[in-house]
Amino acid sequence: MSRFWSDVVHRLIPYTPGEQVQMPGLIKLNTNENPYGPSPQAVAAMQAAAGDGLRKYSDPSNAAVKDAVARRFGLKREQVFVGNSSDEVLAHTFQALLKHDKPLLSPDISYSFYPTYCSLYGIEQVRVPLNQRFEIDIDDYAQPCGAIIIANPNAPTGIALPLEKIEALAAAHRDQVVVIDEAYVDFGAQSAVTLLDRYPHLLVIQTLSKSRSLAGLRVGFAAGHPDLIAGMERVKNSFNCYPLGQVQQAGAVAALDDQAHTERTSRAIVASRSWLTTQMQALGFEVLPSHANFIFARHPQRDAAMLAAALRERAILVRHFKQARIDQFLRITIGTDAECAALVSALKLILA
Ligand SMILES: *Cc1c(COP(=O)(O)O)cnc(C)c1O
Repeated sequence: MSRFWSDVVHRLIPYTPGEQVQMPGLIKLNTNENPYGPSPQAVAAMQAAAGDGLRKYSDPSNAAVKDAVARRFGLKREQVFVGNSSDEVLAHTFQALLKHDKPLLSPDISYSFYPTYCSLYGIEQVRVPLNQRFEIDIDDYAQPCGAIIIANPNAPTGIALPLEKIEALAAAHRDQVVVIDEAYVDFGAQSAVTLLDRYPHLLVIQTLSKSRSLAGLRVGFAAGHPDLIAGMERVKNSFNCYPLGQVQQAGAVAALDDQAHTERTSRAIVASRSWLTTQMQALGFEVLPSHANFIFARHPQRDAAMLAAALRERAILVRHFKQARIDQFLRITIGTDAECAALVSALKLILA
C-alpha cells in the first residue's frame, strides 16, 4: 500500500498465475503448458529472424500473423486481431467491447483473469453459476446484460459446449457482443470461427500458448467482424503500437502454418488424457469430462489441498484453487506419458 497509488490501483485484484518454479526433476502439471515442443519450423523461423533486422521496429499492423490466422481459418485479414498473448487480446476486448451500462455475464467458475479485467476497467460483472454438473447452461444467460464472455472448453473444468449451444447463445443475444475464449479448443472441442459470417457480434479468441506449445512466445489472436476488430485496434494503438516483435511475428506465422504439428501433438495429448482419466477413476477420483489439455478431478475422501501438497513433496506440481465449489478439485495438466505415469504412481503411494 502506498499513499501514491491511485484509487483504481487500490481496488485492483491482480491475477495470480500458477507458480513457475525451477526444481531438478520437477514434473510441472500446474499451468497447462504443452509437454511437447513447438513446431521446429517455428523455432527455425525465429532463429532466422534474430538478426540485424531487429534494429528496425516490427510491423505495427501484424499483417503477416493476421494473414496466417486468416489462411488457417478461411478469414479475411480485417477479421483478425493479434496481440502479445491472448491475455492481452482479452484485455483489449474487455476495454473495447465489454464495458456497457448493463453487466457483463460470465460463469462463476471460469478463467480468473475475467474478474481481474473487470476490476481494472471498472466493468460490472454478473457471475452466472455453473449447473450441478459444473456445466455452462446457456438458458441461465437469458437475462439483461451488456455482453457475455465464456471459455469453451471452460477452465478449470475442461468441459466443452457443443457448437449448437454456442450458436444458440449467439442467436439469443444479437444485441450484445458474445466472446468465446477458445484457449483449449484444439484438444477436442469445436471452434465457433465457423459461425462468424452469420453472427457479427461474435468474437472468438485463441492463443498459441497451449496447442501450439508457445506459452513463452506470448501470442494470441481474435477473430470476428471487422467492426469489432477495428474497435480493438483503436485500443491497441492507444496502448502499444508494437505489441509483437519481429521474432514473435516470425515464430507465430510458422507455428500457425504448421497445422500438422499442432494436430499430431494435440492427438498425443488427447490419448494421454483418456489414459490418465481411466487411471484416476480407478484410484477413486471423480474426473470431469475434459476436452482440454488438463483434467479436473476430486477424490471423495481426500482433501485436495493435502493431495496437492503431498504431490509437491514428490516434485509434482498440480493446481489447486481455494475457491468456493471447487476447493476439493485438482487441475492437472496432461504431460508426457511418462509424466502421467509418474503422477499415477505418486497418487497410489499417497492414497495407500
Ligand atoms: C491459458 C489461457 C489463456 C491465456 O493464454 P495466453 O495467450 O498465454 O495469455 C486465456 N484464456 C484461458 C481460458 C486460458 O486458460
